[in-house]
Amino acid sequence: MKEITLQTNIKVCTIDELSAQDREIVEAARKATANSYAVYSGFNVGAAVRLSDGTIVSGTNQENAAYPSGLCAERTTIFWANSQYPDKAVEVLAIPARTSQGELERPISPCGACRQVILETEKRFNTPIRIILYGTKECYVVEDGVRALLPLSFDADFLE
Ligand SMILES: [Zn+2]
Repeated sequence: MKEITLQTNIKVCTIDELSAQDREIVEAARKATANSYAVYSGFNVGAAVRLSDGTIVSGTNQENAAYPSGLCAERTTIFWANSQYPDKAVEVLAIPARTSQGELERPISPCGACRQVILETEKRFNTPIRIILYGTKECYVVEDGVRALLPLSFDADFLE
């Protein structure tokens, strides 16, 4: 039997080590967490994307008493961006979160469903999305797109 090894490369840094442009999008996402509607979990997630023309769009998680009806910050943001700017590729995505205790120290990572939507967005625009996962102690920067977080992924290629 053969074995394959899947490798994920993630850069680890503090927010101060990010470029000014990356800090800008992280700050937009951190600011957005204040608009999160997370009355059930108390877990306030923000997201911000930078589009190909430089536009920054942010969003938050939106919960619902019927839990599955809510939506994560990443998908809220990407869907809104793609609705408003259907011809602008999403190039960077930043994700921070906080609770009543404050911002998370460790980087927050998108859930499986959001990873799948990020993948679809990359395919749609034929552009890998740089993903910045924010934590107060350190950030993870995924340079080459969501496939690093979603190995052996399913996409439209299988439908052809
Ligand atoms: Zn999610």
